[in-house]
Amino acid sequence: MAGKKETHQLKTEVQQMLDLIINSLYSHQEIFLRELISNASDAIDRLRFKAQLEPDILGEDTEFNIKIASDGIKNTLTVSDNGIGMTYDEIMENIGTIAKSGTAGFMEAIAHLNDKSVVSPELIGQFGVGFYSAFIVAEKVTLISRAADSETATCWTSTGDGTYTIEEAARDARGTTVILDLKKKEKSEPDFTDELTIRQIVKRHSDFVNYPIVMDVERDEPIPENEQLKDEAGKTIGKTSRKVMRETLNSMKAIWTKDKKDVSADEYEEFYKHLSHDWNAPMTHLHLKFEGTTEYDALLYIPSQAPFDLFNPDMKHGVHLYCKRIFIMDNCRELVPEYFRFIRGVVDAPDLNLNISREILQQDRLVRNIRRNLVKKIFEHLEAMKSETYMTFWNQFGQVLKSGIYTDPENRKKIADLARYRTTRTEDKLISFKDYLEHMQPDQKEIYYLTGDDMTALIDSPLLERLKEKGYEVLLMSDPVDEWVVQALDEYDGKPLKSAEKGDIDLPQVDAEKQNAYAPLFGFIKSKLQDKVKDVKPSIRLKDSLACLSGDSHDPSAYMEKLLKAAGRQPPQSKRVLELNPDHPALDYFRKLYEKDRNLPALTDYSELLLDMAVIGEGGKPENPARFSKLVGELMAEALK
Ligand code: ADP
Repeated sequence: MAGKKETHQLKTEVQQMLDLIINSLYSHQEIFLRELISNASDAIDRLRFKAQLEPDILGEDTEFNIKIASDGIKNTLTVSDNGIGMTYDEIMENIGTIAKSGTAGFMEAIAHLNDKSVVSPELIGQFGVGFYSAFIVAEKVTLISRAADSETATCWTSTGDGTYTIEEAARDARGTTVILDLKKKEKSEPDFTDELTIRQIVKRHSDFVNYPIVMDVERDEPIPENEQLKDEAGKTIGKTSRKVMRETLNSMKAIWTKDKKDVSADEYEEFYKHLSHDWNAPMTHLHLKFEGTTEYDALLYIPSQAPFDLFNPDMKHGVHLYCKRIFIMDNCRELVPEYFRFIRGVVDAPDLNLNISREILQQDRLVRNIRRNLVKKIFEHLEAMKSETYMTFWNQFGQVLKSGIYTDPENRKKIADLARYRTTRTEDKLISFKDYLEHMQPDQKEIYYLTGDDMTALIDSPLLERLKEKGYEVLLMSDPVDEWVVQALDEYDGKPLKSAEKGDIDLPQVDAEKQNAYAPLFGFIKSKLQDKVKDVKPSIRLKDSLACLSGDSHDPSAYMEKLLKAAGRQPPQSKRVLELNPDHPALDYFRKLYEKDRNLPALTDYSELLLDMAVIGEGGKPENPARFSKLVGELMAEALK
């Protein structure tokens, strides 16, 4: 702990973010207040949560509030709270660095953008820009904080120019005060010391904050007639007097406890924005009330856009848990499964044990019941969505929802019903498994699919030539999770799912005569490629292409191997089968050449070439691209002669 004043450098990424926020949120300056109030409210939440186990930390100061004070002459605005406060070390850690996952995710998301000017307020709004947004309006920010169990306070100041100072300070009681020395404003800009302006901003962005946001305001009060002063002539001198009054600026409405019919569309939307810090309206909401043995209120939202950190393992879940309007915890993973982690909202369960900790939440019967109920309701809601809205939903969140097919056996069928895929038949439209069944040919027994990372390669894959010819539709799956989906989902409505690249599929066999005719050549090719392929077979899948690779039913798919390698894992050693098209003229010539002279060196080259072509056909890379290219050059010269 330092007694003297110290100056530190802001971390580079903090300064970068600061500059970015200041520049891109210029037209949304007022959100700084929402961010500071939200920090203050979080600080009180955390204090109350802690006080459940250590009631003494509250002391006498149990009237929680967030205070706003402005001074038009000094041009300052102050936001203070009696929340948990911060120690010197906590300030160093929280304010000088980017520790929280949201901001880190945000920085990561924008780091990839070449053109930083596309960083829109909407984009930033998804993350919640936090404390630093104060610098949008302030030329100097001072934060004085005293932690709940500490005697001393710490003062942090910065002008947002890359450095900050930190020193010991005094504060009467626990909590945090943030003082903004406001920038000189242009005529057209709002005056953030003005009472009406502050009121409006609080109403707009922070009306649902759970604690009173108070401000001392001066008002002219009428003086009762018998107390009014009169001059010598008996005339009244003043009928009013100026009084300072404390006013609460927010309504603190817990709209989730209300009846649906008493909540307006605007209120639903505003509450969502308050909860999520998202600037966009939500896609949809569910307002649920359960009575009976498991009693609770829930207000859940599906955002209109997937957040940037949707696939970040540290992504916060969006459901907050309350008990009789008292905040228990945010990021409550136990209330909805991982595959609904994008859902935001509030669950308020009056019978919840207030002392419940995160660790035992999972075992709590009430929580488990609520979760089961919520999941059921969310599914019903998704099932009832109009198809257009549903497709928007699927495009944003389908990848996450699909993961439930392998993580939640209980709801596997429901999620499979909701899944949508591109297919060989409807390239521009996504279809459901149910649609697929309707499209099936009368003689078709299996549901075909093919996985891979490149949709174009999937659409034109040689593996699908005969299937397409038969009019069998093939689901094209290009999300990594699909590999796990098809492992978990081996059938839909009694029809087996079958990979188009694996094992035998239900297509006409190559006739015996052809098989025999090619057997010696295939034996030869196999002997040349024995280190690389498991077998060489006449293909039933190919129609126009010469070669492709397939696997046995239990082998990992080519895509799975690729994914495992990308994740730094060694895929199980499984060689694949080289399939050759017995109806292709090139193969016929190859056979004739082979029958003429089995010792021609070119035969080995052509064998290698066939394998390379199969690899390229599925979007892979030949083992030796230079040799491949040289061989093709020679062949071209021969053909063009
Ligand atoms: P966020 O609030 O989104 O985590 P901020 O940049 O706004 O990010 O704040 C960083 C951290 O600083 C917070 O997570 C919190 O730990 C701490 N902090 C900010 N404001 C306060 C406050 N008023 N009281 C206590 N801690 C605060």
